[in-house]
Amino acid sequence: MKQPKACRQCRKVFEEGDKCPVCGSTTFTTFWRGYVYIFKPEHSEISKKMGIETPGKYALRLSR
Ligand SMILES: [Zn+2]
Repeated sequence: MKQPKACRQCRKVFEEGDKCPVCGSTTFTTFWRGYVYIFKPEHSEISKKMGIETPGKYALRLSR
């Protein structure tokens, strides 16, 4: 079973590939907790706080 990964740069959660589909970073972790699903970043307070511009699933906390 594949462990979803979270990008260390933008916190995007993804399962396929070794590269973040949002920012292209190759540094990610499988140790993360909780997530938010951002539908409309431009209308979301959380996404503003987290600096998210692309809709999708994002990890709330990275533990390592
Ligand atoms: Zn990223």
